[in-house]
Amino acid sequence: MTHENKNMLDVKRTNRRAVLRLLQKQGAMSRKQLAKQLELTPAAITKIVGEMIEEGLLAEGAKLPGSSAGRREILVYSNYKAYCALGIFLELNHAILSAVWLDGRVIMSEKVALDKTNTADEIIDGLSQRLLDLVEQYDIEKEKVLGLGVAIRGVISTDGQISYNSFGIFRERNYPITRRLEEKTGFPVHLANNVRAMFLAQIFSEKDRDLDAQFFLRCEYGIGASLVFNGKIWYGSTGQCSEMGHIPVIRRGGKSCNCGKSGCLETIASPLAIQQDAIHILSEENTPILWRICSRKTVEQLEIDDVLDAARNGDEKVAQIVDNAVMTLSNALKNLIYIVDPRKIILYGRIFENRYYLSKLLAEMGEGVDINHEVIVEKSKYNLRLEEKSAGLVVIEHFLDQGALP
Ligand SMILES: [Zn+2]
Repeated sequence: MTHENKNMLDVKRTNRRAVLRLLQKQGAMSRKQLAKQLELTPAAITKIVGEMIEEGLLAEGAKLPGSSAGRREILVYSNYKAYCALGIFLELNHAILSAVWLDGRVIMSEKVALDKTNTADEIIDGLSQRLLDLVEQYDIEKEKVLGLGVAIRGVISTDGQISYNSFGIFRERNYPITRRLEEKTGFPVHLANNVRAMFLAQIFSEKDRDLDAQFFLRCEYGIGASLVFNGKIWYGSTGQCSEMGHIPVIRRGGKSCNCGKSGCLETIASPLAIQQDAIHILSEENTPILWRICSRKTVEQLEIDDVLDAARNGDEKVAQIVDNAVMTLSNALKNLIYIVDPRKIILYGRIFENRYYLSKLLAEMGEGVDINHEVIVEKSKYNLRLEEKSAGLVVIEHFLDQGALP
């Protein structure tokens, strides 16, 4: 391709992406409105829209209410069923297989337990086969499938081919997951870190990619995070931004962590760490309230909400564990505020549904940060609902970003 041709393709891609993003955000619009908002000539918009209608990506709908009787403007909207994407979301002990339309609407999703005695190949082969069965069962047309998005815990290679360390999903390190999935399913695979994929899904659902800097914090099995500048994920120089859970907070004698180090933030502040620390000191004398809760269930059945209930109801030693976890996490977030200066910090995970914990964290976050940092700290509006769509949305985000061109 000549330099000139490449430039023309880049312009075309940029304009198509702008049209698709704007329609995604605003819903239906007329050509005139699109031209005005995107500062493009009416002729350019007519050409771009015409092409995308022909490709089935856009469709014409009703006439714009209130437009002049002589030449009424027709509304154009995204045809969200033009394409779809498949997804595999890999958690520590289960996977979510799914398919989503272009607007993120879920076509199907299924939770599958992972057999951890299996090798990585066996796990991936089993998931691939089940996904292909579901594609058939839900009559998903293969020609409409843009690809398979895979969202996985841990560290992946910057070229999206290898899972270096899945933090406990696979026993194997440096596993070539993308090639194996492409061989087994026949679809092009887009590999992403799970928290980054969820952040993309959050921004996609929220439709506010214009914020200069946002931070997404997920507390579930561990503590994961991701940073976005101007609608784009920031990867950092080694592709590991932002592994906040593995900030060292205890220099010597800390608990060992999934990542291979010890004394990381998540060994103190993750829901699992809080739960384990409380169980560690559990006794009738030490923790009378948690002991009573435990009389109705086994230690294995104890959940993070039980531990937080015990702290809230006056178990002092349990409360100390919770307070220490909250303080350690909020210290890390305050460092972030002063270094990055984000507009928004979004909290995601089951623990943020606990009002006692959330109010404690928000109160702690209000201490020691000056009022000039107008950072919004809030629970995601989509809390616990992004897992099933985020893997597929990795593919759709890429597709839209390319202006729906190869
Ligand atoms: Zn760690």
